Parts: sequence; structure tokens; C-alpha cells
Amino acid sequence: TKHMGRNNYHFFQPSMNALAQQQLQLMNDLWLALDRHELHLVYQPKFQAPVGPIVGFEALLRWQHPTQGLLAPDQFLPLAEKSGLIVPIGNWVIDEACRQLREWHLEGHTDWSVAVNLSTLQFEQPQLVDTVMSSLARHHIPPHALILEVTETTAMNNPDESVRVLTELTRAGVKASIDDFGTGYSSLLYLKRLPACELKIDRAFVKDLGGEGDDATIVSAIVALAKTLNLKVVAEGVETPEQQEFLTQLGCNTLQGYLLGKPVSPQTIHAMSHNPQAM
Ligand code: C2E
Ligand code: CA
Ligand code: CA
Ligand code: CA
Repeated sequence: TKHMGRNNYHFFQPSMNALAQQQLQLMNDLWLALDRHELHLVYQPKFQAPVGPIVGFEALLRWQHPTQGLLAPDQFLPLAEKSGLIVPIGNWVIDEACRQLREWHLEGHTDWSVAVNLSTLQFEQPQLVDTVMSSLARHHIPPHALILEVTETTAMNNPDESVRVLTELTRAGVKASIDDFGTGYSSLLYLKRLPACELKIDRAFVKDLGGEGDDATIVSAIVALAKTLNLKVVAEGVETPEQQEFLTQLGCNTLQGYLLGKPVSPQTIHAMSHNPQAM
């Protein structure tokens, strides 16, 4: 644009700051990303505590940007949410995770589940239940093999509606997980009404276990609360053997984190599963 005549209209006004321009460009690119197959999923294993078998994987979104390289969700999901693009992208994530899970089931890993993260806008779409059910049907996935991760904040955005949607999904057999637990402001009354099967302790609390602060107390309280509500507990962000040990003793059912397995491609999982020592 710098070679344009001074009377020519150009979209990137000089007054627009560099960051805003960058974001606008990224938004344009994101519109095209789905059609151009630039999005893909990586999968992080979840293990039965303490060191049991893999129970399933969490699907995590990645964007192979044509010039900027590999982008993590933090770098583009806020834009996707703001623009509404998260809806088609999120629908693709659900379908792709189901397609992948079917492949694993056919390879014999019939006990594996897949967990998919839902954004607030996606969760509040009236078509969500239909979208989920049709992806399950299309790929012949038993509903209980799909876990939908909804953050505490998303669930509490419109609590009555969340109860209604999650009830519909769980009646159909799909599982629900309350993600990033501890970072929001749940009313215990609603938490009790939410038909979830598990609660995921946010990495922020796991990180400082064994360190200074109070996190051990907080994590113990969260686990106790979950047990009272009859929810399974997943701890994310497990990076050290000490954390693994502590979380296991507290009674966490499932562990996830770099110590046990980073998010990887389906090709890597395939290679590992043909090497029994790695599984
Ligand atoms: P999340 O759902 O809390 O996912 C956990 C994040 O922590 C992931 O980051 C994961 O790679 C990372 N992580 C896992 N174990 C460890 C660990 O031991 N140490 C550290 N430092 N990090 C660990 P990622 O993949 O960058 O995703 C960030 C967030 O983006 C997710 O947080 C989730 O909220 C969102 N997200 C990812 N994929 C999707 C998606 O398909 N749809 C939606 N709506 N959101 C997604
Ligand atoms: Ca998650
Ligand atoms: Ca988290
Ligand atoms: Ca999150």
C-alpha cells in the first residue's frame, strides 16, 4: 500500500496501528484457512492415574499459517470467537475428531475416547446438539466415546441454558467435562445441577504444587468437591513426578500433561501404538 497514490483509497489506513492491521490480516487469512485445509488437530493422551493405560485423547486445534508458521489456539481463537468463525471451525473440529476416533476404534483401540473443546459461542449455538449427533452418526461413534469440554466460564455464562443443553447431550449418551475448573466463579448450586461426568482442574493450580503457595489446599478442596458431586477428576498440566504423585494420592482419576505425553499428531500416535513399550 505504500506505493499507492495519495488519493487512492486503501483499507489499511496509516492511522490504524500495526497490531490492528495484523489482526485484520489474520482474520482474513482465517476465513480461508478451513477451505485451504490449513487447520489440523493434535491429540494429547489422558492416562488413568497413576500410570495406567491411555483412556483417550484431547483434540487441540492448530493452524499451519502459510507465512507465519504453526499457530497455537491462543494466537487465533480470540479472533475466531469475535468474528463468529469459531462456529464453522468448531463444527469441523467435532467432525474431524470423530473421524479420527473412528480410525482408532477400527485399529482396535475401542476403549479410547476423544475430548473436544467447545467455545462459548459454539456451545450457545441452537444447532449444537444436532451437529454433534450427526458427526457421531456419520462416523459410527458410540456417544459415550465423545467428551465435550466446556469451560466453567462458558457453562456459567447462561447457567439455565447450559443445564438444558448438557442435559440433552448427556441423555443422548455424550459426556460432558467442566474444563479450566477453579478459574471461574461457579455457583455451587449450578455446579450440582450440571450433568457433567468430570471436572478438569486447570493447569494454573497444578503448576505450583510442591512449590510455595496454597495450591495444594485448593487442589485438595477441588478434588473433595468433585467427589461429593460424584464427578471424575482430571488434572491437566502434569509436568513433574511430584505433581503426578500428589494428584494421584488425592484421588484424581485421570492425568494429562507434558510429563506423560505432549499433544502429538495421529501419525505419531500410530507409530507409538505399534511399539507396545510406549503405550
Ligand atoms: P485447555 O483446554 O486448557 O488445553 C490445555 C492446554 O495446555 C493445551 O494448550 C495443551 O497443549 C497445554 N498443555 C497440556 N499439558 C501441558 C503441560 O504439562 N504443560 C504446559 N505448559 N501446557 C500443557 P493449547 O493446545 O495451546 O490450547 C490452549 C487452549 O485453546 C485450550 O486450553 C483450549 O481452551 C483452547 N483450544 C484448543 N483447541 C481448541 C478447539 O478445538 N476448540 C476450542 N473452542 N478451543 C480450543
Ligand atoms: Ca480442554
Ligand atoms: Ca486449562
Ligand atoms: Ca482453556
